[in-house]
Amino acid sequence: MSHTLFVLFTMDVEPCQRKSGVSGPVSDEAGMRAILDFENVLRLRGYRATYFVHPELIEAHPEFYRNLRKEGCGLGLHLHTTKFSVAPQACELGGLAPAEQHRLLDLSVSMFEKGLGIRPRLFRPGCFSANDDTYRILCDLGFCGGGVSIPERIWTERFCIWSGAYPYVHLAHRSFRQCPGDLPFVEIPLSVDLTTPLRYNPVGFYHHPDLRPGGVYSETDEVPVNRRALLHNILRRMAADNPPIKTLVVDVHNDRHFTGEGSQAARDLQAVLDGIEPECRALGWKVEASTYEDVIQRFLRR
Ligand SMILES: [Zn+2]
Repeated sequence: MSHTLFVLFTMDVEPCQRKSGVSGPVSDEAGMRAILDFENVLRLRGYRATYFVHPELIEAHPEFYRNLRKEGCGLGLHLHTTKFSVAPQACELGGLAPAEQHRLLDLSVSMFEKGLGIRPRLFRPGCFSANDDTYRILCDLGFCGGGVSIPERIWTERFCIWSGAYPYVHLAHRSFRQCPGDLPFVEIPLSVDLTTPLRYNPVGFYHHPDLRPGGVYSETDEVPVNRRALLHNILRRMAADNPPIKTLVVDVHNDRHFTGEGSQAARDLQAVLDGIEPECRALGWKVEASTYEDVIQRFLRR
């Protein structure tokens, strides 16, 4: 098993943008088009994505998301408390007191359940915003795993600080979010390049770049990044660290174009897809296309 790389493509499915400078597609329909394009690109290579979906969208288009699930995609909840239509907040999740986090997550779980008929079990917060109470609250609400962390990113105004966070699959800690612990919540962190120094992104944060196609708020990078080199660095560092379960997690957004010669995001995605097999072959690793559920089950069986 240690010579398998579990590859997880994920998408944060955002509601349509209501003001500029906020991520999200121009309409729900454009967002669903992006999902189908992304899905088609991945299927050609044998991958299935995990979608973290904002609750309003599940409620508005339940059939669309039910179909994705039927086709074997992972489906979880995504919540930006700043964008939550039912109770919009001034800050992202990590800036809220425990009772308020619980209330808003509970509301969004109900919306998800109303649309799909099942409670969400996977979670990723908007902007990877969380504090030391978040994992415990997620467990109280029945979540069993997700991608809450982006190791080392510092974006204080979004309440996203993951300095020193353990970067591989682990059980979350009940009181210190950066450490592995014993909560029944399997954290599968976003893959970032820890081999290069922390760098400043003009959007306003410090980070190690990740493989997302395009920039944070636009089709093109704020600072250009060679995706193939990034992939190489991430996997070489992982080989050296040799965690018991190796995962490559790629995040995309539903406001990018995943097809077409003219799209930088489409080219970035292809560069990652083209690189995975040869990089793994060089390391003697087998590639296994996975969803979050697949890896959670694998981790818990271990
Ligand atoms: Zn988001």
